[in-house]
Amino acid sequence: MTTEHSSPTNGPVLLSGLDDLFTALQSDGRTVVGPTVRGHAIVMVELGNASELPYGWRTEVEAGTYRLQRGDDRLAFTHTSGPQSWKQVLHPSRQRLWSADKAQDGFQVTDDAPAPRRLALFGVRSCDLRAIGVLDHVLGDGGRYAARRAEILIVAVNCTEPGGACFCVSAGGGPRAEAGYDIVLTERPDGTYLADSATAEGEAVLARVRATPASAADVQSAADAVASAAARMGRTLPEVDLRTLLAGHREDRQWDDVAQRCLACGNCTMVCPTCFCTSVTDTTDLTGDHAERWETWESCFDLDFSNLHGGPVRDSRAGRYRHWLTHKFGTWHDQFGESGCVGCGRCIAWCPVGIDVTAELHALNTHPPTTTGDSP
Ligand code: SF4
Ligand code: SF4
Repeated sequence: MTTEHSSPTNGPVLLSGLDDLFTALQSDGRTVVGPTVRGHAIVMVELGNASELPYGWRTEVEAGTYRLQRGDDRLAFTHTSGPQSWKQVLHPSRQRLWSADKAQDGFQVTDDAPAPRRLALFGVRSCDLRAIGVLDHVLGDGGRYAARRAEILIVAVNCTEPGGACFCVSAGGGPRAEAGYDIVLTERPDGTYLADSATAEGEAVLARVRATPASAADVQSAADAVASAAARMGRTLPEVDLRTLLAGHREDRQWDDVAQRCLACGNCTMVCPTCFCTSVTDTTDLTGDHAERWETWESCFDLDFSNLHGGPVRDSRAGRYRHWLTHKFGTWHDQFGESGCVGCGRCIAWCPVGIDVTAELHALNTHPPTTTGDSP
């Protein structure tokens, strides 16, 4: 499992390509999961070799818009976040928790947890590193998540090209990978890579890859490229205490305004790399001899999500959007001691009507407070 960033042990090196790194990870018994092009989007799948990375693809991203475009280079990481995140690997959208079969004197219950696999997550951006950190805090205290997480090695990538919906700098970190990885890469314009390790495991993998030592100028030019990406990021959050802002606007007219546009489809929660809510469903077959319990992702935009005795407690779209935005940027701090948003921009791109969390927060910030108190 990835530990906190420590000083590199052998120092940064230059890689002429990524084939050797794939081979080194695979010879370590790891399955590589990383980005590739499928179905007109960049998705995360198991990769057999580096040639399956999305070389030459760029993404045009705006509120409600995501489009792949062919670039005129052979770079693998000039695209930005797609509809999927590492959440699908660490916290699957659907999993069977147990099954039970009728036995002579009762039921025989089987725990269906699959053995955790040795994976290498390849191409993890700084926003997604932070999102994995958020999931670790929420779900990492044992169980299946912790078992999966313990077997994972992370190859991060510093972003040198901001996406149209990104705001990681304003959300508190990025586009440089700061912590939580084993190896970090920076892609250079000529298709070579500056690579460095942050853990002993990462160092051991890099030691098996053909590489040349990087110069101080190589390190500086990579740092400059990342700083340039940070400076070109188009979206920002209001520079105020968002927890206080949201607590002070519980009755704001902006919630009714957004409810006129919001479809309550739940896309924003499904694509968000930190949304972790699930529901549990029990089923039996027609004989009654076999039963299963399944866990699936759930959205707080679903009317049934807040169903208590007699009905849902958030039966309006305004209430559900307020709940989601307030949790992400406000009460997540109370619950987990950090923000629930890492600025990846996925909810902005994949909202079918282009609702933009940054624009909604800026709009709230132009209105005078309507309520007092710490927590909604
Ligand atoms: S709220 Fe939106 S921008 Fe923030 S982490 Fe979730 S999907 Fe990304
Ligand atoms: S904000 Fe957009 S993505 Fe989220 S529920 Fe509403 S319409 Fe769907």
